[in-house]
Amino acid sequence: MRYISTRGAAPVLDFEAVTLAGLASDGGLYVPEHWPRFSRDEVAGLAGLSYVETAVRICAPFIGTALTEAELRALLTKAYGGFHHAAVTPLVQLDQRHWLLELFHGPTLAFKDVAMQALGLLFEAFLARSGRHVTIIGATSGDTGSAAIDALAGRAGVEVFMLHPSGRVSDVQRRQMTTVLAPNIHNIAIEGNFDDAQALVKAMFNDPGFNSRFALSAVNSINWARLMLQIVYYFYAAVRLGAPDRAISFAVPTGNFGDVFAGYVAKAMGLPIDRLIVATNENDILHRALSAGDYSAGTVTPTASPSMDIQVSSNFERLLFDLGGRDGAATAAAMQGFEASRAMAIPAGQVATAATAFDSARVDSDAMATALRWAQEACGEIIDPHTAIALAAARASAGDTPVVTLATAHPGKFRDAVERASGVRPGLPRRAQGLFDREERYDVLPADLAAIEAHIAARARPIA
Ligand SMILES: *Cc1c(COP(=O)(O)O)cnc(C)c1O
Repeated sequence: MRYISTRGAAPVLDFEAVTLAGLASDGGLYVPEHWPRFSRDEVAGLAGLSYVETAVRICAPFIGTALTEAELRALLTKAYGGFHHAAVTPLVQLDQRHWLLELFHGPTLAFKDVAMQALGLLFEAFLARSGRHVTIIGATSGDTGSAAIDALAGRAGVEVFMLHPSGRVSDVQRRQMTTVLAPNIHNIAIEGNFDDAQALVKAMFNDPGFNSRFALSAVNSINWARLMLQIVYYFYAAVRLGAPDRAISFAVPTGNFGDVFAGYVAKAMGLPIDRLIVATNENDILHRALSAGDYSAGTVTPTASPSMDIQVSSNFERLLFDLGGRDGAATAAAMQGFEASRAMAIPAGQVATAATAFDSARVDSDAMATALRWAQEACGEIIDPHTAIALAAARASAGDTPVVTLATAHPGKFRDAVERASGVRPGLPRRAQGLFDREERYDVLPADLAAIEAHIAARARPIA
């Protein structure tokens, strides 16, 4: 498989190069040159396969010759062997129409482990092969950072600098990052919000001298390999609920648009997905974009679902590229306009095309709390606020197609917010106990590019 940039001006890369590159050099995001298609029989053939075998089948066409099938199987077996549930991503039934897909059984209690545990191993394998060394820079609203740090701590060939907005991640999220004391892990608390942290990361990538001197790389959801690894659980869940004979809908708590974009790819590959329900909290740019073509950023409102408290959704560019007929020059012009004015009107024809796959909903904190209490009182399931945003949207959706709500975090990761909404304080699973006894290490820096670059330059390994 070959990968092209959404802005049309970066080199075409293979899977190994696209994994190590993260962002494209023209400021765009890499996407496969075409979506591989699974026939109805191939989808039916996934029935009964383990999570790892499902992942081998789904990932193989994207990986091409970068790994042999045996290497891929060994890597995925290792990645998912560390999950604390034998089904890796189990389905839980709520009522006759609704299911939860629990994606939080990895080491850091959120769905980002599903992709990141395998991505860490892909980095290690590809870097060892070429003898290269990279500096991974990331911005996190909490869960990406902890998942990346767990997956990359102590791995050869990588130095990791993770920026989080100071004071705006939960205590569990922060400690999952800052108590990892491996020498290749560097946590930076930025005096600003998540968008400030993400803008700093983008600026470092766009600084050619800095980027090439330290061989910058990214594991944010702009990294294609992460999205590929998230396609797997859409197939895994839908096949268990009757695909390809029955269509399934998914409700996805959405921030950076990575997780739900993986669902869009699954649909493009031939999985019979009826609706992809994009659920946002009060930070509703994606709901406005998909329902009215209004893609305009405001200011971030802090909510009980902080991993969705963002205004600019980096992966949305991948959808815009497809909606615009995969015209890189047009996507580049539209995104440059958006970057200058922080607003974009999506043409009505493209909004209508998006509506063939996506519904959207804005869920406020009251509706979130109602869904959270319903899961608890009617079904005996304690869910986290991110999951509750999507469950509220799922329950409000029309029709009788079965709906799978992606349960993106363990409730214990957001126990203060769960307690406020429901009165019940969830426990932390055993794998996270001890977090509050460990030493923390991080630096606090202003949201200033020169200061951050100097800090990293003093600690990273430059190219010889
Ligand atoms: C990251 C995250 C999301 C949002 O996922 P995107 O891929 O950014 O849309 C939702 N819930 C939780 C718990 C997360 O960590």
